[in-house]
Amino acid sequence: HPAPASIPSDEARHLPSTAAFQPIVRLNNVHKSFGSNHVLKGVSFEVTKGEMIAIIGASGSGKSTALRCINHLEVIDDGAIEVCGMQVGDPAIDIRRLRRDVGIVFQSYNLFPHLSVEENITLALRHVKQLGKQEARTIASEVLAKVGLSEKGQAYPEQLSGGQQQRVAIARSLAMSPKVMLFDEVTSALDPQLTGEVLRVMEDLAAGGMTMLLVTHEMAFAKRVADRIIFMHQGKVWEIGDGTMLDHPQTQELRAFLDNGL
Ligand code: ADP
Ligand code: MG
Repeated sequence: HPAPASIPSDEARHLPSTAAFQPIVRLNNVHKSFGSNHVLKGVSFEVTKGEMIAIIGASGSGKSTALRCINHLEVIDDGAIEVCGMQVGDPAIDIRRLRRDVGIVFQSYNLFPHLSVEENITLALRHVKQLGKQEARTIASEVLAKVGLSEKGQAYPEQLSGGQQQRVAIARSLAMSPKVMLFDEVTSALDPQLTGEVLRVMEDLAAGGMTMLLVTHEMAFAKRVADRIIFMHQGKVWEIGDGTMLDHPQTQELRAFLDNGL
């Protein structure tokens, strides 16, 4: 007999033993082209709850496209993407819920220049989550504390360094209580001395159990902090492993990438 539909989910039954191994994100044989440019050629991987995965690879290998497909900023041509139990691309899913569950932070911080730091953070809380002013402000101060910017709520973006602005962007994303965070080269536009403070915030998030998928050129950081590293090459997952794979590349392509950089 098929199981009755009324059996509650593992989550509802508080069964962390299985929930802990549930993939939050699962890509299965994903293909994506832009015109005749076949950018993702059958990409498959999973991100398990609490895992931090770093994606590395040369410019143009499809890293950003893969991230953007996960929260439906790009529409895939073939294969499947599942996020928190939702089939991305299924017209029946609630795209707002998908975007709420998946936080994404880009290289450019995209803060509103005419709004204070606090207003940047509370905007979506007020208008998307429909929270009251006080509740939104409380959450803003919590997430600002997490990124080490408790004092900056009333500042305007132009008064902040690039590293501080990027930390505000991370806080703004965190405020929505995402189940997974995507980071696309969030330190690439920063001076080296500002990169560290942003990496530290991401390391804290990982230590706090946040599920994270990040594209980065910071190899030492990826090696130290990531649970797994994915090397993408020409639209495919070429190698996947823990930090030691950077010391022992299995393929000529990863070796060349590590030797020659971007
Ligand atoms: P990476 O992030 O690894 O540098 P991208 O995913 O940004 O790679 O890009 C992979 C390929 O897809 C590149 O050839 C890029 O020019 C192309 N591409 C990415 N986004 C678009 C787009 N919106 N329209 C057309 N081509 C795109
Ligand atoms: Mg990119």
